Amino acid sequence: MRMRCLAATHHRSTMPRQLFVTTALPYANGHFHIGHIMEYIQADIWVRFQRMQGNQVHFVGADDAHGAPIMIAAEKAGKTPQQFVADIAAGRKPYLDGFHISFDHWSSTDSPENHALSKEIYLALRAAGLIAVKPVEQFFDPEKGMFLPDRFIKGECPKCGAKDQYGDSCEVCGAVYAPTELKNPFSALSGATPVMKTSDHYFFKLSDPRCGEFLQTWTQDGKLQPEVANKIKEWFTKDENGEGGLGDWDISRDAPYFGIEIPDAPGKYFYVWLDAPIGYLASLKSYFASGGPKARYGEQRDFEAFIADPAVEQVHFIGKDITYFHTLFWPAMLHFSGRKLPSQVNVHGHLTVGGEKMSKSRGTGLDPIKYLKLGMNAEWLRYYIAAKLSARNEDLDFNPEDFIARVNSDLVGKYINIASRAAGFLSKRFQGRLCQVGGTREETPETIQAQEMLRSLQARQGAIVELYEQRDYGKALREIMLLADRINEYVDANKPWELAKQEGQDARLHEVCSVCIEAFRILTIYLKPVLPALAEQVEAFLNVPPMFMAKSQELLGVHTIGDYKHLMQRVDAKMLEALLEKPEPAAAMVETVKPGGEDIAPTITIDDFTKIDLRIAKIVNAEHVEGSTKLLRLTLDVGEGRTRNVFSGIKEAYKPEDLIGKHTVMVANLAPRKMKFGVSEGMVLAASHADEKGTPGIYVLEPVAGAQPGMRVR
Ligand SMILES: [Zn+2]
Repeated sequence: MRMRCLAATHHRSTMPRQLFVTTALPYANGHFHIGHIMEYIQADIWVRFQRMQGNQVHFVGADDAHGAPIMIAAEKAGKTPQQFVADIAAGRKPYLDGFHISFDHWSSTDSPENHALSKEIYLALRAAGLIAVKPVEQFFDPEKGMFLPDRFIKGECPKCGAKDQYGDSCEVCGAVYAPTELKNPFSALSGATPVMKTSDHYFFKLSDPRCGEFLQTWTQDGKLQPEVANKIKEWFTKDENGEGGLGDWDISRDAPYFGIEIPDAPGKYFYVWLDAPIGYLASLKSYFASGGPKARYGEQRDFEAFIADPAVEQVHFIGKDITYFHTLFWPAMLHFSGRKLPSQVNVHGHLTVGGEKMSKSRGTGLDPIKYLKLGMNAEWLRYYIAAKLSARNEDLDFNPEDFIARVNSDLVGKYINIASRAAGFLSKRFQGRLCQVGGTREETPETIQAQEMLRSLQARQGAIVELYEQRDYGKALREIMLLADRINEYVDANKPWELAKQEGQDARLHEVCSVCIEAFRILTIYLKPVLPALAEQVEAFLNVPPMFMAKSQELLGVHTIGDYKHLMQRVDAKMLEALLEKPEPAAAMVETVKPGGEDIAPTITIDDFTKIDLRIAKIVNAEHVEGSTKLLRLTLDVGEGRTRNVFSGIKEAYKPEDLIGKHTVMVANLAPRKMKFGVSEGMVLAASHADEKGTPGIYVLEPVAGAQPGMRVR
């Protein structure tokens, strides 16, 4: 167990903890997809749990509003970027309310607070000697009057001459190059021929030894999950060619850019990733200014005093694709601008649906709004996601059969049924009154057994609390379902439906049903962070005020409950079929779907395809290429009795040692190409997404086990 939980336990025993909790800020160029909702559910469960512990929580989010993709999308939509972002923001509420996500506040990185804080932090970094200015040569669109990001430059491949290729790599031959190497380049925005232009860029000097020293310590002292801290170690090490390690970070973009203008640098703007995490602080600041904390906790606190207070814990929930920004850039920005650091950065894996990876632009086949519109219960999804989440940075899969099983068998079958089995007898026979278990009667063996069972449920509170604290929700729910099994065994052993038919068994029937309701109440308290709306219905049914965690240690005793109304339906498999149904092609056309971020290429014939000779190749060796930041040199066995030399632009995604021994697919009849580093005799197939923002990654293809070098792929 790490130091953090010991410290946390200490806080709990003394005074309420003060928590400032955030989720990653969603980019405001589209609606939420299921990946966002999964992260919000993970954070919301933790937040609700902390509130149930009596801790003070400030849970904030914001739209990540800046950057070239939004500016360009807004222009296409005929709106100002501000209006574009506002329209996206206006659509957030149905998702957040629909899945019971209890943010205290939602803001935007284009807020006045964020403009002010970003400038302040930048100026502090500059005063600390950590800002450098260096000239950068880039393509410039003379018609649009703007510098072009690589993805907005197209032209002919310098190697194979293929037309309409992006500025960083050729999709036909796989060559990787700088945009300046394209033949007949043109701007994807205007079609104009771009010109080379040099401009000064601002850099955060992450290569400064102070940064490296600070980050190597901070990332390894228990604020991160062990597997995340381990991964980060690699980012500090330089390879044998002296490449890798922390490089300076380009934090500026030239006008026109939708963002925050850099002080004393007219026409220069902060790169969106500089001001995005500052948006966490800015959203909290605007929450404080709105008087939210005063309304909730009765005390007005100064934002700057609060955020600097060592007793305040700053907790971030993020996806693994943005670990780099949150564990290196963000803590370095905070530290060297004289600010307090995060207490936890909790990294989660990605959600797949039926084993399929999510696309950045389209999400998965699981649309959260469609889920709600189909009348599916939001808490089925909250329960299911919680049941699959651990404290580790692991991917999780949404599997329809598993979803049905967990909701119908566990949630409804084991838990809800406890109440439905007892409530009818209580209202019909005892006017809804519970009796005190073992209170008025002699201590019979049955009574002692009932008391022991209730005590054994109460005794698990400490363990369940610790699992929630550690975000080990899957384990917490397994623990709770074991308790539900115990209660169901009690019901089956005591058979209230038979007691109800027997003469003179009223007192026993009353006790058994009261025990069931007491036990159901305890389980509901344990499940409340995951199932807040259901818990609210249960509170109304039991006629009790909102339940806190510690309330599990008390019993209701003599108490009148309300009428039982059915609490939760079972999932119908047809709902899931409808949910995961692929949209009709016609409908897809209207929405201008770009799978993987780009249009499907023009149709070809089978003859065109068979011209391409694809073969299974074994990677017998892989190594770095001196002088190249993008390429790996692969030695491939294609079953020809000799090996081939192939250069592949996959260095950012793979370490050579991870590829050696694997099989892949290569284009075996591609004309050999002479490159700067030698001759390349083919091309290895790899998948990637067209998105400019974020790090979608590159994935080399690998055949299912058994394929042999030289086999043809058709
Ligand atoms: Zn090419």
